[in-house]
Amino acid sequence: MRVTVRVGLQRLRSVAAAVVVLTAASTVAPAANAAPSAGMWLGAMDGGVFALGGAPFRGSGVGSGTTSPVIAIAGRPTGAGYWLATLGGDVRAFGDARLFGTLRGVRLNRPVVDITGTPSGNGYWMVATDGGVFAFGDARFYGGLGNVRINAPVASMAPSPTGNGYWLVGADGGVFAYGDARFYGSLGGSTMTSPVAALGATRDGRGYWLVRRDGMISAFGDAPNLGAATTSTSVAVGVVRSSSGAGYTVAYSDGDIRVFGDAVPISLPSVRLAAPLVGAAAAWASSSGFGLTLLDIFRALSTPPPRTTWPAAHQAALTFDDGPSSYTRGVLSVLQQYGVPATFFTVGYEVAAMPDLVRAEAAAGMSVEVHDWDHADLTRLSPAAIDSELQRSVDAVTSAIHARPNCFRPPYGSTNSTVVSEAAKLGLTQILWNVDPSDYLRPGAQTIAARVLSAASGRGLVIGIHDGGGDRSQTIAALPAIIDGLRARGYTLIKLC
Ligand code: ZN
Repeated sequence: MRVTVRVGLQRLRSVAAAVVVLTAASTVAPAANAAPSAGMWLGAMDGGVFALGGAPFRGSGVGSGTTSPVIAIAGRPTGAGYWLATLGGDVRAFGDARLFGTLRGVRLNRPVVDITGTPSGNGYWMVATDGGVFAFGDARFYGGLGNVRINAPVASMAPSPTGNGYWLVGADGGVFAYGDARFYGSLGGSTMTSPVAALGATRDGRGYWLVRRDGMISAFGDAPNLGAATTSTSVAVGVVRSSSGAGYTVAYSDGDIRVFGDAVPISLPSVRLAAPLVGAAAAWASSSGFGLTLLDIFRALSTPPPRTTWPAAHQAALTFDDGPSSYTRGVLSVLQQYGVPATFFTVGYEVAAMPDLVRAEAAAGMSVEVHDWDHADLTRLSPAAIDSELQRSVDAVTSAIHARPNCFRPPYGSTNSTVVSEAAKLGLTQILWNVDPSDYLRPGAQTIAARVLSAASGRGLVIGIHDGGGDRSQTIAALPAIIDGLRARGYTLIKLC
């Protein structure tokens, strides 16, 4: 396709910023009939991308030789691609996302802090901390702060639903509306203990949320305030509305993810991240921001990457949650037919009721571990109650198979340092997952298998699926394709713990 490039250089008062408008001569239609998943991508400063809740993994910037840290992520409305932007204004495109231009080679006076896609998915804007806005593809320039003296760095931006405007927010909570984006209020002038990190717009664009570094949410216009999770140990980096608009997800730099309203619960396995998260993106919205100060960034970059707990490359662990149930024997039968070991995170009261089933798991050479006693969210419990949930589960498994479990998986992936330390007292190591095909939503066996295989890029996999908690016939039906597909991609199937 033919692409015309117009570059306009504009002399600004304090900075020599460039306004770059790259116009595609023909438009690229979003993939027809693609059903965007409910999932979400999280971007990390080292270029890492985590695809959760059925969002497809389409590659990452890790090891790409990019010298500038990744600072933001934006998704395509097809749900099949995403962009990463670096502090230096470089952009990398993955999946069906196309590269419409970058700021590479452009002398920036201030670092880029956010990237956000147009509603068509055929363009994007980037914004720098001085409020300079850069438009690419079908994104249009409606104004910026590049020539205005501002009190605090710009932290984040979001497009209006039409794409004919956008909001910018400063770390001091000031909101700036351009084009058809309207102003619904700001935190400008108020006293804050923590700077604003990011902005997320509502579905109809008649409101927005601001999230501060400490996780506090301020809602304006028609945006509902559905609660916030504050933290002193981490930094909020993005707030993304749910697909309906009646909820939002807040992502934190340490990998914590909190959902409010009707946002789909997702979680990142609590591996120690090699680099902090910088933002979150879904098919319908994205949010990244200046949650991390430059000081944080340089600190993060100077710290050697910690060891992660994932399996080695080309190793995959099938892990089954919420059993045992009437579907467990069906799962075991396929695993045995294919000679595949797997790991079961069992629910204590089900183990107590059906010890024969976990005995069958152990007899088949499977790893029998624990979820908790009654699928409680452990983060909502006191340390004593966490201990009780896990101890009863350990006792149930131990009495059934005469072997003690070594690992646990917190229900919902909901965990914190108290959960981890209470579990450690019982000798239990926490295991989460990095592939979630959302089999519990019963999207069809083919879809379950396809989602797992789309994550099989060679990295080590912990696949979270279920043998209990509902009708698991689709999960069982998906297993042959998952196993064959992983083996065809060079994977060895392993058990954990
Ligand atoms: Zn579960």
